[in-house]
Amino acid sequence: MIQFNKSYFWEQQLENIKEAVDNNKVSGDGSFTKACNAWIEENTGTQKALLTTSCSTALEMAALLLDIKPGDEVIMPSYTFVSTANAFVMRGAEIVFVDIRPDTQNIDEKLIEDAITDKTKAIAPVHYAGVGCEMDTIMEIARAHGLKVVEDAAQGVMSSYKGRALGSIGDFGCFSFHETKNYSMGEGGAVLVNDPEYVELAEIVREKGTDRSRFLRGQVDKYSWVEKGSSYLPSEMNAAFLLPQLEIAEEINNNRLASWNRYYEGLKPLMDKGRLELPYIPEECSHNAHMFYLKVKDITERTALIKHLREDDIIAVFHYVPLHSATAGKKYGRFHGEDKYTTKESERLVRLPMYYGLAETDVEKVVDSIYSFFK
Ligand SMILES: *Cc1c(COP(=O)(O)O)cnc(C)c1O
Repeated sequence: MIQFNKSYFWEQQLENIKEAVDNNKVSGDGSFTKACNAWIEENTGTQKALLTTSCSTALEMAALLLDIKPGDEVIMPSYTFVSTANAFVMRGAEIVFVDIRPDTQNIDEKLIEDAITDKTKAIAPVHYAGVGCEMDTIMEIARAHGLKVVEDAAQGVMSSYKGRALGSIGDFGCFSFHETKNYSMGEGGAVLVNDPEYVELAEIVREKGTDRSRFLRGQVDKYSWVEKGSSYLPSEMNAAFLLPQLEIAEEINNNRLASWNRYYEGLKPLMDKGRLELPYIPEECSHNAHMFYLKVKDITERTALIKHLREDDIIAVFHYVPLHSATAGKKYGRFHGEDKYTTKESERLVRLPMYYGLAETDVEKVVDSIYSFFK
């Protein structure tokens, strides 16, 4: 059986967890959390990185920090995970969905400006498959209209746009370290605070609305409740599990890219014959092989392909029923403009097995199975 996703184990993870216990520090913000934060800061250039309990809560923190209120509007693609929308909906905002580009499945930057109203507060681009959105255009639009930008970079750790790390370009960036992502702490994430103005408030919001971070640095002599907040910091044990992966991030990235390239080269002849479509990587983007997907003719052909692969003991999946078509999406959002690609592309897309350590022979088996399907 070739699984869709698989966790990998490094001995150092257990040693680190033991060390956290020996240090008598298993709750949050010990030395492992600090080392993960420092790694993110060094590797992305963000002002401040803070580990969180998930990318969902990192997005929630960003929405809280931006003081999103009932009546506000936030622009995002409909082709994304529910958390991108939930974070703002939980603060009372209405979501304005705009169409995606059919080449990258990212928000179509050319459609954003038309969706802006006097209620718009933020834009939340999602870097699908770890391939960057057209960020220069998005940032220009945001600055021209006084909007904030929250990058959902859940899938984008170790990816870049014009040499800048995804997550470090907008006002906030949000990473995921869920087990299905490139680097995992089981459940976890990080918020990247790119605007120095928000750093102190971000630390407060993440620490239950208290100035505990300042207290621990000796900047105040007691800590107290100063703002709205919650507990967004993960356990030290999760950070201890994550750190060894960040330390070899380059190796993990290269391993995934090698599998990605093997899929691409193996399936290219089928693309050249017009049987399927393969991912497109814009020149400005360097990606992290978060996902390998292909697109077939329509939903009927996709269902048949997934079934065919399953019969060959290969788990392939699809995802993202467009949010605007979901019950909550209709309740809390609206689609601006025409849904030319969101629904159509979402019904054609298939994700192939992809994880660190995926065997070369397994990639070949998947490719062979796809060839036999099209025969
Ligand atoms: C995985 C993912 C999330 C949620 O990440 P969690 O860490 O599980 O909360 C949000 N947005 C996108 C685009 C994702 O892929």
